[in-house]
Parts: sequence; structure tokens; C-alpha cells
Amino acid sequence: MHSSCSDGALAPSDVMARAAYHGATVVALTDHDQLAGLDEARAAAQALGMRFVNGVEISVTWRAITLHIVGLNFDTQSPELVNGLQVMAQGRAQRAQKIADQLAQAGVEGMFEAALVHAGGRVDLLSRTHFARELVARKKATSVRSVFQDYLVAGKPGYVSHEWCSLAQAVGWITGAGGVAVFAHPGRCIHAHEGDELELLHEFVALGGRAIEVVTGSHSKNQYKKYTQIAQDFGLFASRGSDFHSSNESKMEAGKVPELPHGLIGVESLFG
Ligand SMILES: [Zn+2]
Repeated sequence: MHSSCSDGALAPSDVMARAAYHGATVVALTDHDQLAGLDEARAAAQALGMRFVNGVEISVTWRAITLHIVGLNFDTQSPELVNGLQVMAQGRAQRAQKIADQLAQAGVEGMFEAALVHAGGRVDLLSRTHFARELVARKKATSVRSVFQDYLVAGKPGYVSHEWCSLAQAVGWITGAGGVAVFAHPGRCIHAHEGDELELLHEFVALGGRAIEVVTGSHSKNQYKKYTQIAQDFGLFASRGSDFHSSNESKMEAGKVPELPHGLIGVESLFG
């Protein structure tokens, strides 16, 4: 789940309250490249009787493809992880400026400042979602999800190719901090290149990756089947995530996620 400490709409404690309301018992906050919401979320989750797992979702560039690697159950004080995320935050701010410049060239002016308001004034958090919310506010699109058909994606205004960290860095930071690296929503990353996907999975496992997200709002029922098989073939633990950002932007509600398919072992069993 995501909070206003990255591109979610709700404060960490509000996200936890929603998850508890929907019956969640084990939860993780996985803000993009950010640990800032974990303390608040942990306190709220524990007060609500849920088991809280530290989380983060790290953006990775692998062969010009953007992937998301989720880290779970790590030490939030790990210097390598903290420093790595800090460098990424600087890159995020620079990317936001380029996105705004591109949009200005397409006639949509003043987007840096406007998106910054949606990000609570935090330059280091600025994501495409914040730009998307402003584009909806300006009636350039009807919903945040439909923004990504006409803006901010390859070939459309506001698209910027960006170099995130490497797969080795992301997995290394997470495992170095004692955490578990999870390949998040694989079906959203590389639908077109099956050969690449197998090579990526082998590389992820060789680097120390131990789990794969099988159940997520980004996956179809067929993809549940496909990634169940892949988890079994590669000996990976499985995770499920709502990818909750806000009630009107997310396909799944916080804490309301279908069970894992049979034959899989949930990643939480690694946490003792
Ligand atoms: Zn993601």
C-alpha cells in the first residue's frame, strides 16, 4: 500500500485504518523509494492489532524497462538502503522538472509547481501520479488511470525516460538490510518479451531475490496462473498486494486482496 509519503492520497495511519477495517492481519506500507511513512504506519497498524512489516517499492531500470522491486521486513536504519534511496530521490526531483518542461512544450504550463502541491511540497516525492492528478484537475483527462493513455507515457506529452537504480542495487540494498526482495507485479513490467522475462527472473534469483507478487490488481486471472507456475518453477515465495493509492484510483481496496492460489507459500512465512 502507498501513502502520502509517496504517491498515495492518504496519510500512513489512514491507510492502515482502511486495511484494518477490511480485515487485514499482516500489512506492509510500500511507498516508492521512501521510508518516511513507516514509523507512523507501524504505530497505527499495531494499535489496530495488525502485524506490520516494513516495506518499500524501489524503481529499477533493467534493459531500459522500469521494474518495481518491493523490499519487506528490513532494517530501516541500514546506511546502504537509506543512502541509496536518498540518491534516487534526487533523481526523482530532476525527472519531475523534465516532465514539467515536456508538458510546457506541449502547451500545458506551470505543471512543476502544480504537481508539487499534490506532493505536499516535497520535491523528492514528485511522481507521475502527482502530475496525473493535476492533469485531471485541469480536465485534461477524466481519471488518473486514463491520464496514462494520453500523457506521461512513451510517445505522449510529458514522457521522460529515466534511469533508476540497477536490479543488483535494489536487491542488494534490501537483502543487505536483512529484508526480502519481492518482484512486484511482474505482469505489468514486461508483457511483450517472454525471453527477457525468464532471463530477468534468473538474474533476480541469482542476486538473492526470494519472492514474487502473484496476486495484485495489475494481474489478470490468467496472470495469477502464470505467476503461480513461475513461483513454483523458481522456488519463490509469493506475495499479494492491493497497490492501494486512493479509493478512486486503485483497482483493489486496502486490506481487501484475494487469497493466494493453492500451492504457494506466502512471503510472510519468512518473517518468523
Ligand atoms: Zn509498483
